[in-house]
Amino acid sequence: MPGLEAQIQEIAGLLTKARTAFALTGAGISTESGIPDFRSPGKGLWVSTQLMDVLTSEVLQNEPERFYKAAMPLLAEFAAAEPNPAHRALAELERLGHIYGIITQNIDGLHQRAGSQRVWEVHGHLRTGSCVCCGRKQPFARLQKSYEEGEIPPRCPACGHMLRPDVVMFNEPLARDFFDVHDLLYGGCDLMLVVGSSLTVYPAAGLVTLARDLVIINLQPTPYDEQARVVIREKAGEVLPKIVAAVRDMSP
Ligand code: NAD
Repeated sequence: MPGLEAQIQEIAGLLTKARTAFALTGAGISTESGIPDFRSPGKGLWVSTQLMDVLTSEVLQNEPERFYKAAMPLLAEFAAAEPNPAHRALAELERLGHIYGIITQNIDGLHQRAGSQRVWEVHGHLRTGSCVCCGRKQPFARLQKSYEEGEIPPRCPACGHMLRPDVVMFNEPLARDFFDVHDLLYGGCDLMLVVGSSLTVYPAAGLVTLARDLVIINLQPTPYDEQARVVIREKAGEVLPKIVAAVRDMSP
């Protein structure tokens, strides 16, 4: 088993040689920003709550008050978080031309806030919400304000129907970004750098099969570890800045 320094050098070499590399990120990249993930042992969100049962399109439609009371405190926490060194390192890899862009399962918007330009948000985002009837969009902050003022669920100012966050709930189809990036990956992906994902949520996890080479940085084992060229089980916020430094050292 090679040491961490050798693994970092190998990843930097793969990034430098790849013609088209993408990062695929999950909830684990944002835990160092204080947002809990879903599946880390002992502290993932599923452990303390029954969120999976509530964050569904059925509960949103049929029991909107229950949905909002469970979801809004959590979503407000996501929206208030700040990017960490892992988000900033991926933004730097894009700026240096070593990754083309980031496919994220996260809804927290931290990649863009760290400076990443090309981000595909396959599970939606927290910048806006939409009316379930007329489709008009509102800033997410407006949904938050209405909720805090006791309007549960928040209502569309135009037609009075319920507003919903522009986030993909369980049992809903993925966001348009998923299909766009799926087509792009078919066009060629030499390398996928997976960061902070258990790779168990489909169809997003299946995107890794479209890459020629795979690198995984994740604290826990994933079902794709055996297929990866390099697997590092360390914190993303500690490893990714070292990869950026190694890539810089290799550049002419
Ligand atoms: P997951 O919770 O299934 O897995 C997260 C993985 O990250 C775990 O295997 C864990 O070992 C690893 N991890 C935790 N901290 C890490 C760190 N500092 N460095 C490296 N690895 C670390 O996450 P998932 O695969 O993204 O699936 C969960 C779903 O929940 C996603 O689809 C996402 O939409 C949603 N979600 C999003 C957020 C967010 O936006 N920040 C947070 C929670 C859940």
